[in-house]
This record gives sequence, structure tokens and C-alpha cells, in this order.
Amino acid sequence: MFFRWSDRALIVDAPAKLNLFLRIVRKRPDGFHDIDTVMSTINLFDTLEFSASNDNEIRLTVELAVSPMTGVSVDTIPTGPENLVVRAAELLRLHTGATPGADVRLIKRIPSAAGMGGGSSDAAAALLGLNALWGLGLSTGELVGLAAQLGSDVAFFLGGSTTARCTGRGEILEPLNLPEFLHFVVAKPQAGLSTPLVYKHCRPDTEGLSPEGLIAAWSRGAVAEAARCLHNGLQAPAESLSEAIRGLREIFDRLPVLGHQLSGSGTAYFGVCHNRGQALQIAGRLRSAGYPWVFVTRSCT
Ligand code: ATP
Repeated sequence: MFFRWSDRALIVDAPAKLNLFLRIVRKRPDGFHDIDTVMSTINLFDTLEFSASNDNEIRLTVELAVSPMTGVSVDTIPTGPENLVVRAAELLRLHTGATPGADVRLIKRIPSAAGMGGGSSDAAAALLGLNALWGLGLSTGELVGLAAQLGSDVAFFLGGSTTARCTGRGEILEPLNLPEFLHFVVAKPQAGLSTPLVYKHCRPDTEGLSPEGLIAAWSRGAVAEAARCLHNGLQAPAESLSEAIRGLREIFDRLPVLGHQLSGSGTAYFGVCHNRGQALQIAGRLRSAGYPWVFVTRSCT
């Protein structure tokens, strides 16, 4: 999360994430799943601009900064209370009893229904940005409490660490300090997948499966070994629901990447590359194959 002031607006760059490891631990009595996941922010960002308004309204405008090839229309992103940015703003007002207004401009680059955490990252940016703009003075602990009400991944984006092991529903964070960054190529088909639907079709992973091998290899800078430890327990159910994901897995099986898998509940699919040059070359092949969303990116440091 990066912050800067321009005139009277606070500008926040909200990163996307990839899940390098995701184990389904168990289904909980409340219907949610306990997971054990390693998430990394990547250098693909939505941008949010917050400015104070003269009234008590929260006004959100959304702009798309994506290729027309994606076929996404701005109308698919809600601007009312269904948008997590508006929900975060309302939650801050409810929690503090204050009723300031704000104009928020959201520039979207992160695809939705992709497993890249776009909405959650925007929500974390809104909690941090409006806490500062409105001078509310809430502590990080208080913001984390509000984050949990907005979604399981929001705490990760609030936490400020670029890579973390997250457990519980994903809201219990253990920040990881990893030396190397990883280079990725990410492709997403036009179709998205609903997160609740994928979880409905998943089964708990084998007991004992752990991200420790991945973390240990990455800590030593052994990137190729780390890439061999990728895992995502949501990939099998997502493949059973989406032919497009099966197609991506088959394409990546034939590419010379160090490792590959679905991110979160999809439909974004990524490969770990030797370097940026290789990621650019593979991106060209994926664009020629007709994928509307292709990113060359790396983990943030
Ligand atoms: P995750 O990786 O957390 O599963 P996701 O890939 O499902 O996230 P989101 O960007 O959270 O993607 O979008 C899922 C849905 O949430 C969208 O289809 C949209 O209706 C709604 N939504 C709410 N707030 C936002 C937001 N700020 N940006 C985009 N979509 C949002």
C-alpha cells in the first residue's frame, strides 16, 4: 500500500495478491473454511483518491484502466453499498460516530472474480485512507477489527507486510520477511468464478500439508525449489467448475516455468518465471493465444 498527497486528495495505490500456497484445513461450523495460506502482494495496483467533501455523502466513482480486450464494462463494478470501499467508509463512520463525507475516485486495474484480492485491497486502502483523511486516529488494532467485518483478506492488505502466512479464515497474520522477489506471468480468462461457489465444492486437504517447505526455500533464495512447493487446494474444485481453468493448467504444463497454479479461487492463473525476460516472453505467447488479461509482475519487496 503506497500513500501520497496531491493538492487536497490522498492517493493510495492498493496492490493485488497471489496465493503461493493455500491449504483447506477444515470446514467450520459457521460455514466458513479454516485455511493455511501464503500470500504475496504484487506490483499491480488499483488507485484510490480520497478527498473531503462539503456534505455528509460518500460518493464513489469508478474508472477502468484496462485493455478493451478484457471486455469489462465499468457498470460491472458497483458504486453503491455493495462496493467494499463504500462499506469500509460506512463502517468507519459507524464505529466512530463521526459523519464526515468524502469523494472517492477508484481506478481499477485488478480484475474482479480473479482470486487477486482486488476488492479486499481497495477496502483496506479505504480504511487506511479515510482514517487519515478524516483524522479519526484509529489504531491499527481497531482497523484490523473492522477489516474482519469486510472480508477475510482485508487484514492481510492492512497489515503492511508484502508476504504473510495467513491462517484462520485468512485473517490471522504471520508476516514473512523474504529476501528475493519472485517473477510471475499471470493470465486470466474472461470468465470469473464466484469465491463462495468454489469453496462449496472444495474438500479439506491432506493433513500435515504445510507451507513450511515453500517458506524455507524462499528464505534461502532458492526460488526454483520454492516454486516446486506451490499448492492450492481450491484448484481442483475450480477446475471442476471451469473449463477455462483446465485449459490454462494444460497450457502452463507445456510452458518452461518453474511452477504454476491458480490464485485463490481463480480465475487468475500464474506461473513463477526464472526472470522478468522469461515472463515477458511467455506473456507474448499467452496474448497470442487470446487471453484478454495477461500481466508480467513480481512480488513486492
Ligand atoms: P478475492 O481474491 O478476494 O476472491 P475477487 O477476485 O473475487 O477477490 P473482487 O475484486 O473482490 O474479486 O470482486 C468480486 C466482486 O465484488 C465483484 O464482482 C464486485 O461485484 C464486488 N466488489 C465489491 N467491491 C469491489 C471493488 N472495490 N472492486 C471490484 N469489485 C468489487
